[in-house]
Amino acid sequence: MADRLSRYREKRDPTRTSEPEVRPGKRPRRRRRQAPRFVIQKHAATRLHYDFRLEVDGTLRSWAVPKGLSTDPRVKRLAVEVEDHPLEYADFEGVIGEGSYGAGAVIVWDAGTYRNLDEERSMAETLASGHAKVWLDGQKLRGGWTLQRTRGGEKPQWLVIKRRDEAADARRRPESTQPASVKTGRTVEQVATGR
Ligand code: MN
Repeated sequence: MADRLSRYREKRDPTRTSEPEVRPGKRPRRRRRQAPRFVIQKHAATRLHYDFRLEVDGTLRSWAVPKGLSTDPRVKRLAVEVEDHPLEYADFEGVIGEGSYGAGAVIVWDAGTYRNLDEERSMAETLASGHAKVWLDGQKLRGGWTLQRTRGGEKPQWLVIKRRDEAADARRRPESTQPASVKTGRTVEQVATGR
């Protein structure tokens, strides 16, 4: 199996960053009997964005979503696919230091479990096909979202769109009304200033 975490490792100097370290040759963790996890980390890097991550086959498939996931089915949000992250990253909250890749503060903005809504194909298969459907059970976000790849290549681009289900809500703005970490209650500004 290809080492899906090699890009994660190459971008980071473990002696400089507080993020989880992945040693070469480390096998992805298997958590087969539990529902797979998802996490959305708010990341105050050079440009503020939300990192959306889904546990798939032992690593976290990851997208940088500049505006976060909308709960309004009419809104399409750009999601740029980035390198897989290790499962331990789902709990990471802290400051990535100046000079390191992704420098800036990170909080766990939402977390929970998810389900693949495609009954025919595995999550890895739906992502490889460029069209996936997931049901998120988070503390802030709940319901179905579609992931549609619109451009391949080095940095594949996707659109993430709320599905029309009972959890859709065009009026919610959780990024503004619920800004704090679901893990520690801190805002990304508080984490950045060390409070
Ligand atoms: Mn990020």
